[in-house]
Amino acid sequence: MGDMANIIVIGSLNADLVVRAPRFPAPGETISGEDLAIIPGGKGANQAVAAARQGASVAMTGRVGNDSFGPALTQNLQKNNVDTLHVLSDESATGTAIIVVDSSGQNSIVLSPGANGKVTPDDVDAVPFQDAKMLLLQLEIPLETVVHAASLARQNGLRVILNPAPAQSIPDSLLADVDILVPNESELQLLSGKPVKDTDTAKSAAQTLLEKGVKTVIVTLGANGALLVTDKQALHIPSFKVDVVDTTAAGDAFIGGLAAALLDGKPLEEAVRYGNASGALAATRFGAQPSLPTQNEVDQLLRR
Ligand code: ADP
Repeated sequence: MGDMANIIVIGSLNADLVVRAPRFPAPGETISGEDLAIIPGGKGANQAVAAARQGASVAMTGRVGNDSFGPALTQNLQKNNVDTLHVLSDESATGTAIIVVDSSGQNSIVLSPGANGKVTPDDVDAVPFQDAKMLLLQLEIPLETVVHAASLARQNGLRVILNPAPAQSIPDSLLADVDILVPNESELQLLSGKPVKDTDTAKSAAQTLLEKGVKTVIVTLGANGALLVTDKQALHIPSFKVDVVDTTAAGDAFIGGLAAALLDGKPLEEAVRYGNASGALAATRFGAQPSLPTQNEVDQLLRR
């Protein structure tokens, strides 16, 4: 093991099973697609790799199955310098995402949580929070585990970043333990109970979450970049114009870039720019983890 990790990620690891097809099959129908691509994914693992490629020291906590996908996902994290000491092997199947991409680039996904559904509060108790600075969380593992992790991290003085995805409602007690909440527009709408259609409505929706104890809300706006909302300001920070190939993991790339920049001591506004650059670059390449940019690539785009 190398140095202690600054960033701990507690979350999902998935094998993304992707097939491109001319269109989506109708119920009961069989159609032919292209060759299967098996790509490392899962929001937790994606964010771990995203931050590590931006130069942060990162450790992952989660569960994979003892099938063939499990070791492959763990090894891919290791290849990306992510510490996997706390990635446990479970009796369940490895989490998978069955993804069909049609000719227009839309996707249709069935998520099978498998081992991700078995990450327990006990798993979290084994994590050495006292040595780390930041915790990244998402919602692809059981909610009670996420709640427990945020609470322990807060007690240990870590900065807690929550990406509330996939969208689901969460208890106010969790929001109160979050330093930086990073929803996209539909997640923000669900959490706030307010319609989100543009930056003005996003701002007022984000403000309702500040009232629940979140210190900072950063709303990702796809090609439009992000909206940074604190009790002092609401600032729209545009993204970069790129040729989009596949936006899978753009949100995860954004969070990895944001987290690494914050750890590096950058102020929030500048860290959001890093997030935008990282997200934009991920959108120019196919797949989840293979699309995540390096620190050099992000620096180059920011200098452009
Ligand atoms: P999610 O994929 O989680 O819904 P978004 O679509 O909001 O998240 O994308 C996350 C971030 O990735 C955006 O805030 C932006 O910085 C970047 N991004 C996503 N799509 C594009 C795009 N088409 N062009 C430029 N940047 C993009």
